[in-house]
Amino acid sequence: MKWKSHAAITRAVCKELGVPEHYEEMIVDGAVEPDRNPVLVGRSTTKRLRVAHHGRSDRATTVLLWKARAAYLDGDDEHACRHLGRALHYIQDRCVSRCLSWHRHCLLEERIMELAVPHGQVINGIRHSKSSPDFIRSCVKAIRPSSEPFSALAQATFYSAAIISSVLDGPDPPPSIEEMLRRSSIIRTITLVTSAVSATILIFLALGSAGPLLLVLLIIPAVSMAISERRYRSLIELAEWHGCL
Ligand SMILES: [Zn+2]
Repeated sequence: MKWKSHAAITRAVCKELGVPEHYEEMIVDGAVEPDRNPVLVGRSTTKRLRVAHHGRSDRATTVLLWKARAAYLDGDDEHACRHLGRALHYIQDRCVSRCLSWHRHCLLEERIMELAVPHGQVINGIRHSKSSPDFIRSCVKAIRPSSEPFSALAQATFYSAAIISSVLDGPDPPPSIEEMLRRSSIIRTITLVTSAVSATILIFLALGSAGPLLLVLLIIPAVSMAISERRYRSLIELAEWHGCL
């Protein structure tokens, strides 16, 4: 996507949300930054890779959104805006198909640049927004590249609005988050212990008279542990998203 489109979408959403101009500029700067200064992934300094602008970049985008949220909760608005803008760049680029050739892709970007940002999609995105890590993850996953200019722009606008609104929403945890966490932690411990005990019994039985076929049943404690761990992690993330941990 061209810088003009990145800036236009981001500005339209910031204006609707009443983001002060100074911060709007920071988010817009962030939204064009990855084309000058790409986000790199990977641990090794020699093998770090550029995050794909028009391919799957879900994980890197989600990490940037988490950084934005953490900075926002810390009161570090400058970094919050920068990380949010950088994440928006990948979200908006992802809406645009790579097309059959680079030439076609450039034509598509130019046609998108000529269109006005659809205000209805700004409103829709804000209306559908929820402030939670599951929501931003689902948005990032749901994006599908389009080779039709208006559809690509509408999608980029909708998800930009939903995500900016989600990240810049004030901390508002569910009132019972601490109780939910406490219960989930107890369930997780019980599941862990019962799964470990039942797995041990199954292994002993399988090694004895019951035969190795019994090992198939190990899937039950494994699935139980995975489900309870997932629920617990999801609550921890929700608490972190709202600054409770
Ligand atoms: Zn780009």
